[in-house]
Amino acid sequence: MTATESRTLHPVTNPATGAVLAEIPYATVEDVDRAVRAAHEAFLAWREVPVVDRVQPLYRFKTALEKHTAEVAALLTSENGKTASDAEAEVRRAIQMVEVACGMPSLMMGDSLHDVAKGIDCKTIRQPIGVCAGITPFNFPAMVPLWMYPFAIACGNTMVLKPSEKVPLTPSRMAELLQDAGLPHGVLHLVQGDKVAVDALLHHPLVKAVSFVGSTTVARYIYSTAAAQGKRVQALGGAKNHLVVMPDADMPKTVEAIIGSAFGAAGERCLAGSVLVPVGGAAGPLLDLLVKRTRALIVGDGSQAGVEMGPLVTGDHCRRVAGCIEKGVAEGATPLCDGRQFRSPAGGFFLGPTIFDHVTPEMTIAREEIFGPVLSVIRVDSLDDAIGLVNRSPFGNATSIFTGSGKAAREYSSRIEVGMVGVNVGVAAPMAFFPFAGWKNSFFGDLHAHGKDAVSFYTEQKVIMSRWS
Ligand code: NAD
Repeated sequence: MTATESRTLHPVTNPATGAVLAEIPYATVEDVDRAVRAAHEAFLAWREVPVVDRVQPLYRFKTALEKHTAEVAALLTSENGKTASDAEAEVRRAIQMVEVACGMPSLMMGDSLHDVAKGIDCKTIRQPIGVCAGITPFNFPAMVPLWMYPFAIACGNTMVLKPSEKVPLTPSRMAELLQDAGLPHGVLHLVQGDKVAVDALLHHPLVKAVSFVGSTTVARYIYSTAAAQGKRVQALGGAKNHLVVMPDADMPKTVEAIIGSAFGAAGERCLAGSVLVPVGGAAGPLLDLLVKRTRALIVGDGSQAGVEMGPLVTGDHCRRVAGCIEKGVAEGATPLCDGRQFRSPAGGFFLGPTIFDHVTPEMTIAREEIFGPVLSVIRVDSLDDAIGLVNRSPFGNATSIFTGSGKAAREYSSRIEVGMVGVNVGVAAPMAFFPFAGWKNSFFGDLHAHGKDAVSFYTEQKVIMSRWS
């Protein structure tokens, strides 16, 4: 299943210790070409397999993932750093993707109408499109690839997956489990690597569709490059998510939700709340509680019991986030908690949680994605001001409102220009049977990830008119 045969080895590190876990070769253009050609060969046979048979390996894959959840989650923690409970939750989310894809016989059904004209019947059918490429980020190595290949495969396509080079081990192990579950050889290929492998996929004439999840700069590049060559593309990008708190919110519950949203997975989530927007009198009681709870947060090696926040994924990323904190101080924001003061265990890439108060919308920490445990507080006077602030952001991935008022929640949800909205929910992550994607600079394309959108993305629709008279 692994097509990578290049010789240069690149280390994969454990972010909690800095220890090297493995060394992997990156795919060359020739490696990618071989993988795509083999996937195309496999496609010619796989598309002829009835959908009820195509989903059988996926049923067995689901069972295997359930059996191996602890093992896969431990591997995930070791290369990504997130806590054991976050890693297990991620594997459960991944399993839900497989469950939904197993319903493909129903999901792929078309429409039909008898006698659209006298003696003429009409029906729609969905057919697979060919070799699909999947390119995924470091932060959800178990779940995000499964937004892609279970759906693509169940629809009758084959896929070449290029996971993040920072976390190649979890996707490899999961692909092995699917292979062991009886997926025919060649239907799923893994190529490990970096931009070289990505560009080879984007330019390969046999790749018909590209699914990408990652940062906005790369998402925009993927979208424009692949679309210019007539490929179907969905490219999910970065985020700057606002959490709006009304004065009538249940403050203790809201604080727990904010902690999970801003500092869960060390803020390395595209759905992480990174700007807190207290409205009117909410700021005082909210920040008192939030700062106390943040100071008590247990930071450490995610594999240890009781740890609530793990390290950042790499030393480079950790230094970049520390640089964002420095910039916040330099631009005049008030640090209520400063993550740079956290004394990290030897070797790991750690920062503590950071909260800045009195942030203005012009500051860099308010505008740019940090992708770390840094929460910026922008105080506003009214719900209208909060909506204006959020709608001026170039990103539109996720947002949440915390309130006891149905009217405020309804108004916020309908006026806000964001793809995923939480009401008294800190991480508004749609389940596998709903679509997942943002708006504006957080998404390039038309059809979102998973849910029914995935069926549309990974199939072509055909209309058949028949007369038998
Ligand atoms: P990234 O954009 O650096 O990398 C994503 C993928 O693109 C990786 O496989 C990487 O190898 C490849 N890549 C990197 N640079 C490239 C280049 N110049 N040309 C071609 N390919 C390139 O993202 P990351 O750091 O792995 O992940 C974090 C980012 O992903 C954050 O911005 C986060 O918001 C975003 N993300 C978004 C969602 C979403 O649903 N919108 C979900 C998860 C993560």
